[in-house]
Amino acid sequence: ETATNVELTGVIEAALEMTQGKISRAGVTLDWTPGAQVWVRGGEVRLQQVVMNLLSNAVDAMMDVEDKHITIRLVPGAVEGETGGDPTRLTVADSGPGIAEPEKIFDPFYTTKEVGAAQGMGLGLSISYGLVQSFGGRIRGENRPEGGAVFTIELQPADVSG
Ligand code: ADP
Ligand code: MG
Repeated sequence: ETATNVELTGVIEAALEMTQGKISRAGVTLDWTPGAQVWVRGGEVRLQQVVMNLLSNAVDAMMDVEDKHITIRLVPGAVEGETGGDPTRLTVADSGPGIAEPEKIFDPFYTTKEVGAAQGMGLGLSISYGLVQSFGGRIRGENRPEGGAVFTIELQPADVSG
């Protein structure tokens, strides 16, 4: 599971393309403005899976709320010298009810969804956790003071030496 240089704006766009049907069918509005290229260390297909799972989870969480909204933000890291600098930060926030048990969400097979549902295996976040960690990054999920959940992925900047 090696990490290579990956362009994250394109990964987000691809993940949105894959989940667009689910998002629009659910009546969810999206706040996301693709900007400049942002290069990070990761794996293109695996990062796309991680973002798709976050989007899918957000839509699932908002099933019973009236105001369904997803906000995606991408803040490029500051590259200072050869190593170090701030990581790139990607956040996916929703207007759902928030996370019931934040300390359990990365446990394998933890789910609050109906058993047997296509998305109800409880493996998405635990797999995502391992993938992001294998790229030298981190992922966390928390409740926002203003309501809803926000998931943050931090990734190392791309290796300029190739
Ligand atoms: P699954 O989607 O199969 O339930 P995941 O590992 O993707 O498995 O998510 C585990 C659990 O974390 C979910 O069942 C849900 O309880 C909680 N969760 C994940 N995302 C959100 C969210 N955006 N809002 C509220 N709870 C969430
Ligand atoms: Mg899931």
